[in-house]
Amino acid sequence: MVAPLMDVSYAEVAAQRVMDRADQLAAISESAGQLTRVYLSVQHLRANQLVAGWMAQTGMTTWQDAVGNICGRYEGKQEGAKAILLGSHLDTVRNAGRYDGMLGVLCALEVVAYLHQHNLQLEQAIEIVGFGDEEGTRFGITLLGSRGLTGTWPGHWLNCEDASGVSVAQAMVLAGLDPSRIANAERPKTDFSAYLELHIEQGPVLEEEDLALGVVTAINGACRLNCSFTGHAGHAGTVPMALRKDALAAAAEWMTLIEATTRRYGPDEVATVGTLSCAPGAVNVIPGDVKLTLDIRSPHDESLERLLNQLLAEGEAIAARRGVQFSAEAYYAIPATPCDAKLQATLAQAVSDVQGRCLSLPSGAGHDAIAIAERWPSAMLFVRCEKGISHHPAEAVIESDVALAVQAFTQAVTKLAGE
Ligand SMILES: [Zn+2]
Repeated sequence: MVAPLMDVSYAEVAAQRVMDRADQLAAISESAGQLTRVYLSVQHLRANQLVAGWMAQTGMTTWQDAVGNICGRYEGKQEGAKAILLGSHLDTVRNAGRYDGMLGVLCALEVVAYLHQHNLQLEQAIEIVGFGDEEGTRFGITLLGSRGLTGTWPGHWLNCEDASGVSVAQAMVLAGLDPSRIANAERPKTDFSAYLELHIEQGPVLEEEDLALGVVTAINGACRLNCSFTGHAGHAGTVPMALRKDALAAAAEWMTLIEATTRRYGPDEVATVGTLSCAPGAVNVIPGDVKLTLDIRSPHDESLERLLNQLLAEGEAIAARRGVQFSAEAYYAIPATPCDAKLQATLAQAVSDVQGRCLSLPSGAGHDAIAIAERWPSAMLFVRCEKGISHHPAEAVIESDVALAVQAFTQAVTKLAGE
């Protein structure tokens, strides 16, 4: 049986509760006046307790798992049924906003609250997880919470240390967890049929389109490279223009081409030169050596590779024409995470129902879904955030957008869990 559609006035009250709870969570911080809540801290455990209390109010059984995720389960018609997993993370960057991560957990709570209030049990159970670490703020390693569920913690993670020299293993003990039991957090593939994560967009696309909600097609893959142009340094007054091997002029030409080529290439690919250093670096010396970085992302691995090859070929061509050397070395690469097509379609239908149309867009930032998608079909619902700002205290969402999000999310989850 499919639940009746949530009416607007109910969604408004739910959205108020979400905003109020986001404020309550934002007050749990290691520093007054700022929001910083890191993995396995006292604040992390307090946030878990608060969320567990809210879960219990909506008829869920709750537990904290072996890596410190807070978990809740709302039974289906038959006890022990397969579940749909909803969630996001409860940790933050330093001096964070209050919605990145938390909004996904709080809206998931509203889905269950709605079912509970209407005394509805679906074919599938619903579980909610508040992941303990997605941002990697404390230990410099990310997705510790979601990789706990997939059982893919690399062995060396326990030895990683925070800025004070406390290891993950020591922090776990201090938090009342047993590092020898992290494998207990792993969930068998058969436990869940799907994972849905609601998250703020962290970009300006929905705002530009004047839409509250969008459905994620894929989490972008990324590649980062260290690049250089090497020419000849020389006297700015004595070397004629025709005889120069100016490394910075070559780099500048490449940068404008990176921008133009990537813009032409497609709507979803992005490429950025984020750092550039120039030597010798004097007003009266022709630059002989330039080092720069390239960050390139795409929701499609093949597109990323094709674009990257094109950009590198352009760099080579510029260098050859100018008689300088060009080099590029990749030092980081992560493949794209495509979202499940059927789940995307269900989310898109629900989004169209509540806001008239649906926009599909890639996610430029990483999410827990990267890890979870390795084991379970996963999809994401994006909520507009003001000016696309995130990881900053100015991070903001509109309450009426949250109301639409709760409506669409509830409809999609109900449909999937009712089948
Ligand atoms: Zn996040």
